[in-house]
Amino acid sequence: MAHELFPDFIPNMIGGAFTPADAEGGIDVVNPHDASLLARIPNSDAGTVAAAVEAARAAQPGWAATPAVERGEILHRIANAMEAHLEDIARIVALEAGKRMPDARGEARAAVQCARFFAGEGQRLFGRTMTSGTAGRWAMTVRQPCGVAGLIIAANTPAPNFAWKVFPALICGNAVVLKSAEDTPISSWFLGRLAAGVGVGGLPKGILNIVHGLGATAGWALVEHPGVDVLSFTGSTRVGRLIAEAAGRQLKKLSLELGGKNPLVVCDDADLDNAVGWACLAAFSNAGQRCAAGSRVIVFGAVFDAFMEKFVAATRALKLGVGDECDLGPVINARQLEAMTAAVERAAADGARILCGGKRAAEPALAKGFYMPPTILVGLEPDAEISATELFGPVVNVYRVDTFAEAVVLANRSPYGLTASIHTRDVDRALAFAASVQSGVAVINGGTHGSEPHMPFGGVKASGNGSREPGTEALDVYSELKDVYVNTRPPR
Ligand code: NAD
Repeated sequence: MAHELFPDFIPNMIGGAFTPADAEGGIDVVNPHDASLLARIPNSDAGTVAAAVEAARAAQPGWAATPAVERGEILHRIANAMEAHLEDIARIVALEAGKRMPDARGEARAAVQCARFFAGEGQRLFGRTMTSGTAGRWAMTVRQPCGVAGLIIAANTPAPNFAWKVFPALICGNAVVLKSAEDTPISSWFLGRLAAGVGVGGLPKGILNIVHGLGATAGWALVEHPGVDVLSFTGSTRVGRLIAEAAGRQLKKLSLELGGKNPLVVCDDADLDNAVGWACLAAFSNAGQRCAAGSRVIVFGAVFDAFMEKFVAATRALKLGVGDECDLGPVINARQLEAMTAAVERAAADGARILCGGKRAAEPALAKGFYMPPTILVGLEPDAEISATELFGPVVNVYRVDTFAEAVVLANRSPYGLTASIHTRDVDRALAFAASVQSGVAVINGGTHGSEPHMPFGGVKASGNGSREPGTEALDVYSELKDVYVNTRPPR
């Protein structure tokens, strides 16, 4: 252990203090590249989460009373601090998530962009002025904070995941309790420390609290805590359903950013080289650990063989590892690797053909890490388990169709609806696909991907509950609208 950028023990941040000082019964944080121990975190319990919520509740009224423009100026200072430490953030992310530095840098930059966007929203935290049916009456809406925001994030892109939720919550005047992802808590600690340390005129103590621990204990305590007014969760659909039930029981405001099994359609008029390049990136970048991963590729029969020849060759050429020259790293933990290899084995037993990959990487240089080679499966039924289940790894199913209509039906034959892409030169097909695919994002001639920080992201069906983050739409998650009516009389 002992790293120059972070301590051996990563403490919680509660009410501006970093506690506890050591890890009695803590949780190991390992580098997925080689399973080496990076640090330990506290296994926070419900009492610790309650202390964080209390600190947030105590600090929130002062923050809500701070003009939104001033809150934005503080966020600008945090964004500047993040930019100044971009390389440090990237190095931490690369270690704890097992990523190449160019990818980790890109993610750190995306987190800064998100911070800047929401800092600027402090000058635009708009309501609306409406007409009124009554003479002399002014009608308007104003945005008010919800109170305390309980945020739970996934490990796949830890810096943007932090930024996507923390900055919109803060600019709206909420205090935050964030439960970090237990596999990637170091970046949350580092970003929290940067935010707390921007100096005089920085974030007041207690406005941003960070608690480390397991989902079922620390995460669940946050979900159930009556002092949390709005919950935002990024993670699996399975856990999202549990949280939705709990939030429903409590009538708590909730935003869910969940899983995907995203289709990428290759039509018979597609630029095949472009489609192959995007299919590889969509399926395998970040080792397939993207909610927006293109894990179902749907190819027209007329170009199926030509596409597959290029796609399999390009996939076989991908290099595993975390060096700059590599294409994809490991998956996040051993449990995830085992679940994925077991799912591929079951699919093969059900008749799927594995064209490449399929088993844990055996090369000595990778054997200690959680490496799954990029895997292509064909011959799957659209309703087979592996067609309908998100694996969250570098495994892609390829299906054959003969018509555009068939492609759209198959694209939509999924419990999920997060992102989708089509490759075609035909504008009619492209726009018909964008209109009819059941997803929160539709891409023409590109990969399946998430949104830019100023755009709304979210899914339909089992991919979410209708909310959109980030973009200005995130302001709707983290603020309550209040109608204000002002009645005037004719001046005397
Ligand atoms: P996960 O649901 O197991 O865990 C995500 C987070 O929830 C972690 O912080 C975890 O500790 C916490 N958690 C787990 N159980 C909990 C519980 N009972 N109560 C409260 N919190 C709990 O998901 P994962 O496997 O770590 O992450 C991958 C999933 O996240 C995939 O399904 C992926 O598609 C999804 N994801 C979605 C988006 C999006 O924006 N739609 C973005 C990234 C990841």
